[in-house]
Amino acid sequence: MKIKINEDNCIGCGYCEGVCENVFEVVDGCSTVKVEEVPVEYKDNVVDAIESCPTSAIEEIKD
Ligand code: SF4
Repeated sequence: MKIKINEDNCIGCGYCEGVCENVFEVVDGCSTVKVEEVPVEYKDNVVDAIESCPTSAIEEIKD
């Protein structure tokens, strides 16, 4: 699973970082993705972040 942040939509609320700090980090008011590929053990947390992000700024990259 690969993901990216739509920087135009992210409001830097920090929810994603709170739910999975090993994958997301908010830098200068915008979330960044710290990993190329989401480790399987964090997938459920990342899906939570995707579904709960208030601006739908996290997108799964489909190959
Ligand atoms: S939950 Fe969404 S809006 Fe909030 S910091 Fe993460 S990507 Fe940005």
